[in-house]
Amino acid sequence: MSLMKPHSFAHATEALSFIDGGFVSPGKGEGIAILNPADESHLGVLHEADRDEVDAAVASARQTFEAGVWCGLSVEARQQILRNIHDLILTYADELAYLECLNTGLAYAQLRHRHVPRAAYNFSFFADYIGQAKGEVYTQAENFITTVTREPVGVAALIAPWNAPLALATMKIAGALAFGNSCVLKPSEFTPLSFMRLMTLFSQAGVPPGVINMVNGRGHITGDALVKHKQVDVVAFTGGTETGRTIGAAAGQGLKGVMMELGGKSANIIFETANLSHALDGALLGIYSNNGQQCLAGSRILVQRSVADEFISAFVARTKNIRVGNPLETSTEVGPVISRAQMERILSYTKSAEKDGCEVLVGGGRVPEFERGYYVQPTAVLATSNNQLVCREEVFGPFATFILFDEVDEAISIANDSEFGLVSYIWSGDYPTITHAMTELRTGVVWVNTPMMRELRAPFGGFKASGVGRTGGRANEQFFTEEKTVTLPIRPVDPPQLGMQNRSGDERP
Ligand code: NAD
Repeated sequence: MSLMKPHSFAHATEALSFIDGGFVSPGKGEGIAILNPADESHLGVLHEADRDEVDAAVASARQTFEAGVWCGLSVEARQQILRNIHDLILTYADELAYLECLNTGLAYAQLRHRHVPRAAYNFSFFADYIGQAKGEVYTQAENFITTVTREPVGVAALIAPWNAPLALATMKIAGALAFGNSCVLKPSEFTPLSFMRLMTLFSQAGVPPGVINMVNGRGHITGDALVKHKQVDVVAFTGGTETGRTIGAAAGQGLKGVMMELGGKSANIIFETANLSHALDGALLGIYSNNGQQCLAGSRILVQRSVADEFISAFVARTKNIRVGNPLETSTEVGPVISRAQMERILSYTKSAEKDGCEVLVGGGRVPEFERGYYVQPTAVLATSNNQLVCREEVFGPFATFILFDEVDEAISIANDSEFGLVSYIWSGDYPTITHAMTELRTGVVWVNTPMMRELRAPFGGFKASGVGRTGGRANEQFFTEEKTVTLPIRPVDPPQLGMQNRSGDERP
């Protein structure tokens, strides 16, 4: 067991706006404490960007867009800068993972080996993508050729959550940038620290000042000002479903395009025909990795009754073994959740489960060894009906709900009986069961016999209240560009002539 050296890196203790290529002095906005969820210590102060600061950030993005300093670059030049960003993120991976660990409570090992490499990959992926992007040509109409090309949409507002700050925000930044847009990022007010470092890496990589700006602050102040800003063309948002409704309504007023990645209550279905050992590994990862705070968590684990005793007792035994602790320790598997409010919210679901008559199988409370920090025991409950609150609402923590079923169709109907439709997981060795379930499940992504596997070329997003639109290679291209159709004749056309007749109908001389 080793500990990342807490003082290996000097880091910013103030979260400031980054506008026109530099950090700006605090304005009139409130100062908000940045906390370490592992011990509740103060890491610094976030200076909330008010309307004026948001104005300045958007104006800077707009100016660079109009001036063409980024969108006017050749594809090769943009690719090179995106690749520089990829390389710099990997060069400073230890530092970025450390900052993210301090600020989020996510396990350092998961950040260093999954989140940060993914953040880097987002940039190289889009660098490659734009090198192969293509337009359309139509020649069916006689004598005409019609082309469809894509142009950047303009200024993008990018609003990110706290549960995987770097990995999720960089997907938006890379997607916006690759297609020639300028942008303003608003990270979550809980997790600004790694972005303070990231902004300097963008400059070092050669991103011109003003192309990427950042404002920090709470959603209803800074986020609201950004979404409603008249000079913002599109809003890409990842966060909770209720917030999505608010942002969607505000963006709708301005007729801005929105891309929304929202919440989930995903079913992880264990059929009796599954390789139970793989399914067990997948189910544990699906709910407890990332401290249980992931949109794609397999939080409703549906188990066929014939294998339920065996599966659930193995799940409970492994859950008791999970190493919960200081996220900087490289052996830690589950760290603290993001905030006191989130911890209390998660714990309230144990009470709700007990009140509804569910059996608490493991966990259910705070981790007793820790006096400070937001440590919640990895928890699992057995529900008796999919209507119980722990089956309906997204808990967003290390909290699994088991539901038993007898028949394949019953499992599919329970899985689909949800307000959400982000992902689903199927574990089975029976081909007809797999093909039937993957066809009937109403979710944007279905994973078969594998835990989460994100293929960036393919769209990711949710049905129903889990989102609007998709992210991914082509999905981001569609969202961050406008299509332009140009029609031209192959040989000169003789258009019908107006105004060539006199009043009596004779042709004019
Ligand atoms: P949240 O909705 O509270 O906040 C997300 C972001 O929106 C933050 O930056 C916040 O400041 C901002 N915000 C809040 N109100 C706003 C407003 N009125 N105007 C503009 N911005 C506003 O979500 P969270 O708690 O940070 O993240 C957890 C949620 O995110 C969960 O529901 C989770 O499922 C969801 N999520 C979804 C995906 C996905 O891909 N579908 C991925 C990760 C997280």
